[in-house]
Amino acid sequence: MSLNEFDIIQQYFSQLTRPRNDVITGIGDDCALLVPEAGKILAVSTDTLVAGRHFLADVDPASLGHKCLAVNLSDLAAMGAEPCWVSLALTLPEVDENWLENFAQGFAQLAEKHNLQLVGGDTTSGPLAITLTVHGQVEADAVLTRNGARPGDLICVTGRLGRAALTLNQLLNGAAVTEKARMALERPEPRVAVGIALQGLATACIDISDGLMADLGHICLASKLKALVDTSAVPGPENTLDQETRLDLALTGGDDYELCFTFPEKHKDRLLQIAQQTEVSISVIGRMHEGQGIEIFDESGQMMEMPAQQGYMHFS
Ligand code: ADP
Ligand code: MG
Repeated sequence: MSLNEFDIIQQYFSQLTRPRNDVITGIGDDCALLVPEAGKILAVSTDTLVAGRHFLADVDPASLGHKCLAVNLSDLAAMGAEPCWVSLALTLPEVDENWLENFAQGFAQLAEKHNLQLVGGDTTSGPLAITLTVHGQVEADAVLTRNGARPGDLICVTGRLGRAALTLNQLLNGAAVTEKARMALERPEPRVAVGIALQGLATACIDISDGLMADLGHICLASKLKALVDTSAVPGPENTLDQETRLDLALTGGDDYELCFTFPEKHKDRLLQIAQQTEVSISVIGRMHEGQGIEIFDESGQMMEMPAQQGYMHFS
């Protein structure tokens, strides 16, 4: 007999994540009842993943469970917030217990890592889509935003950029991909620890979901400044592609969920410390200046033309 939505919630979601002691009521009543820490502010973010648009419909459900949570945690990381609670709105075309089991397991594994409790949601039938709302907490004066960059600040990125886009291109072309390459696309690690370590130090921060040029562009716009980027310092995918393709992927590829942040030069020593403490590489790729927009340069300091397509957009 097929499960109804109450059975699905009961069987797969009601006990999925470890209880936190700041949750009075989680799944099971009309609202979740949560107790924020005194003096902290809430950081709240929602993301939707639609089959065929954000993920290939036949993707491994455990990876999907991981990724839908990772992209939301990445938004908390970008604000320097500590993850606390999440709700999950799930629209399913059919009840496939094997799919649900694996999806829930991928979700739970990442939630456990970040001490995040699933506290509610909604379960409906329709074309496969997943919407998550994550809630984090942060000290009001430590929160990271897009608009605080100052002239002279260093521009930094975590990890390597363009790896997810490279894997996606290869999969779409029917090419074989290594396990490591597949992980870059399907199991991004949200940079939560880096975001928290940057509290009170970074002047602006964003997570790179649409591509470096697009997302750094948001920092420029919000901070009313110009970014000068040394493209030879931008860490692209580690492989044997030609230089031009690597750079294009690194500048415009989406879905990496690394952080891009601005950092006062006088605290430069702290960057190495943060990289060591979080075990995430950090590269300095440029500097903020008066002005607007982004200018990119090659290793000899020659200005380069900006890539034509700077990031993914849904309605263009
Ligand atoms: P209501 O009809 O009052 O909105 P629902 O029947 O949708 O309640 O859900 C019952 C309970 O299960 C609620 O606490 C809701 O937050 C939770 N819930 C529903 N779907 C999910 C889900 N996919 N994941 C986690 N919790 C869920
Ligand atoms: Mg409901």
